[in-house]
Amino acid sequence: SLPLGAFDPEVAAAVGAELHRQQSTLEMIASENFTPAAVMEAQGSVLTNKYAEGYPGRRYYGGCEHVDVIEQLAIDRVKELFGAEAANVQPHSGAQANAAAMFALLDPGDTILGLDLAHGGHLTHGMRINYSGKLYNVVPYHVRASDLRVDMDEVAELARTHRPKLIVAGWSAYSRRLDFAAFRRIADEVGAYLMVDMAHFAGLVAAGLHPSPVPYADVVTTTTHKTLGGPRGGVILSRAGLAKKINSAVFPGQQGGPLEHVIAAKAVAFKAAAGEEFRERQQRTLDGARILAGRLLADDVAEAGITVLTGGTEVHLVLVDLRNSALDGQQAEDRLHRVGITVNRNAVPFDPRPPMVSSGLRIGTPALATRGFGETEFREVADVIAEALKDERFGDGRAGLLRDRVEKLAGAFPLYPHLSDPHG
Ligand code: PLP
Repeated sequence: SLPLGAFDPEVAAAVGAELHRQQSTLEMIASENFTPAAVMEAQGSVLTNKYAEGYPGRRYYGGCEHVDVIEQLAIDRVKELFGAEAANVQPHSGAQANAAAMFALLDPGDTILGLDLAHGGHLTHGMRINYSGKLYNVVPYHVRASDLRVDMDEVAELARTHRPKLIVAGWSAYSRRLDFAAFRRIADEVGAYLMVDMAHFAGLVAAGLHPSPVPYADVVTTTTHKTLGGPRGGVILSRAGLAKKINSAVFPGQQGGPLEHVIAAKAVAFKAAAGEEFRERQQRTLDGARILAGRLLADDVAEAGITVLTGGTEVHLVLVDLRNSALDGQQAEDRLHRVGITVNRNAVPFDPRPPMVSSGLRIGTPALATRGFGETEFREVADVIAEALKDERFGDGRAGLLRDRVEKLAGAFPLYPHLSDPHG
């Protein structure tokens, strides 16, 4: 019954240090966000104690009357949010949502089409040593060399040649909207299922600021912790006719007991995502990404050999292209880390450098938009990033000046002020 700090000071100290890191730096990893206090409260609740194998009303354990209410709320809310016919809210993560969806639709050895990892796809879309690459016959599609957009002609051609059972559309590093209608036409032509993994842009879809894949896809998977801003987890949406197959692929196919504390947190996040405040935040997320892309396309940055993939963005992230820059992805990530901005390096399509170094940065705006950043602050942070990346003589002095600007921004938008900062 001792509180964490008293019972386990080592873990408590690391949690406190992480809180301080989040509060004092600018989080720009495109897949991260700050979840509301109410979501964390639900996730940190007694629900973590409960076994509830099965589904609401059909459980393999007693005492599920309250978790049934919670899981049904999560299901109803996410169906309403995205206009979906059926939802499974039990996948522990985005990767598990994809694994279960594929398990429902495919047999081992079946052919799938997915966007190549090196061109912005996710591990679960067919990477060689991921389950998806080991279990299924993967045919990757790509972006065009000319404009770095997904090549729908290639998708159609590969589909006609390889007759896949499933086409996966979705991405982890891509800054443009996909043409869901075109994917649907190709899937129909070859008799394939279409699965859209909207993990990255689900929040934009919920806010009505990005086309929805739901009318086009047989199955839509997502994480709940990226633009959607909820707890870490996954969801599968589907047509009603596939619901039974998908439910049995999640449990007992892939998972045992659902994480009802996380499902409660998902329910809270779906409630938040239906509100006007959430929509306004997603708009600032998009505006921030456009401001950042604009700054990184300016002449002073271009002179350093740095540009933006596809010449801009339509989503919550910007992909910085360092292929013609002396600075590589690792060095660029380190530079921004030194000024207090957290991003991740990322391979770009046709990257001449090895993946561990890479020639790209992926920079996202969801977490800063959640923190309250608007146009003025995004202009300032975009300028700090541009100054850090273009500088040929970047050293301690320059880093310190930029770090001061970052600290000023972070200080003006306190994060989780109700939680104590042991360093503050
Ligand atoms: N799908 C996409 C498109 C992703 O970008 C990610 C995460 O990066 C996932 C799935 C996997 O989600 P998780 O990390 O929750 O397993």
